[in-house]
Amino acid sequence: MNKLLDGISASATVAFNNMAKKMKQEGKSIVSLAGGDPDFETPKRIRDALSSAVSSGKTHYCDSRGITPLRERIALKLKTENGISCTADNILVTPGAKYAIYLAVMSICSAGDEVLLPQPSWVSYEAMARLAGAVPVGFPLSASDNFILTEALLESYITERTRLLIINSPNNPTGRVLTASEWEAVRSVVKKHDLYLISDEVYEKIIFDGRKNISPASFEDIKTKTITINSFSKSYAMTGWRIGYMCAPKFVTELCYLQLSHEISCTNEFVQYAALEAFNCEEESAAMCAEYERRRDYLVQEISSLPGFKVIKPEGAFYLWVHIEHENMDSSALAMWLLEKAGVVTVPGDAFGKGGEKCLRLCFAYSFSDLEEAVRRIKKCL
Ligand code: GLU
Repeated sequence: MNKLLDGISASATVAFNNMAKKMKQEGKSIVSLAGGDPDFETPKRIRDALSSAVSSGKTHYCDSRGITPLRERIALKLKTENGISCTADNILVTPGAKYAIYLAVMSICSAGDEVLLPQPSWVSYEAMARLAGAVPVGFPLSASDNFILTEALLESYITERTRLLIINSPNNPTGRVLTASEWEAVRSVVKKHDLYLISDEVYEKIIFDGRKNISPASFEDIKTKTITINSFSKSYAMTGWRIGYMCAPKFVTELCYLQLSHEISCTNEFVQYAALEAFNCEEESAAMCAEYERRRDYLVQEISSLPGFKVIKPEGAFYLWVHIEHENMDSSALAMWLLEKAGVVTVPGDAFGKGGEKCLRLCFAYSFSDLEEAVRRIKKCL
């Protein structure tokens, strides 16, 4: 076995989502709040564009970097919406943002390099760092001060081997959105220590209470060190289409292209043509966000009223990070307990690293009635 796989287990978010789907197929009475997969249908015009692309023969190998019209459209979006000056040459289209992150980590890190990860953080960053032979260095953010990131905290984890920092805002699983001053802290540390920064912005359009996403690649002084990751999955309910992208300095894009060309040749051609239509679906995307906000408000109110359950109101993304006071149960035991007693599937917090030991992640990308049913079941079993 390749030693790099030592100690890596399958993605908990994927595993719990798959488990819930399987249990449903078997006819078990469960409510899943596990996988971060929007319950909305992909907007019709995108589905129609897919049919047209297939009928018109867009069913072959295509440019490994991504079809030109899509890369140009992504570059225009990043310029106009995110303030990132870039061209199609900076863009690489990938089957999902996840693969873009993996390629970027592989391109940047050598064996023994350290990758800084504020935690709790999404389950796959740590595994990706390990797969690259790098060393993930998770540092806990504190729920008691709303997971605030400071320059002093970042500095305290920097060593000679620190190479890369990964930030995800809006954050999975905490729902935190970095403020301008937190981004200033990141910017200062990246500059001072000449780090690379991966900014995972896949939840940029799921952001609440009038907040705005900040893209660090819009800061000219760290632009050449920043890799912006995005996807169509969450913004347009397109998780199953597997399509995402990166925007990076050209030499990083080229290193990623090199790997992609050997590993998968290219991203599905017809999916890329369909994805072009997503840029005409901002209304649909905003409507989904409004509904997520309504669900967030409901879930926060209900879950925070339960004895021993503490939540922090998510500022973006579609996850509720719940801390449960319990002397004898860790997060896995809590998740099993909820599954067995209430038939509600969640993801145990320890999968997200330090700080998740007594936590569960509840996803509210499920229908309102599913959320109501989950709350009813949890209340009953308590
Ligand atoms: N990102 C989603 C989640 O956290 C989907 C599963 C995965 O790829 O991790 O649930």
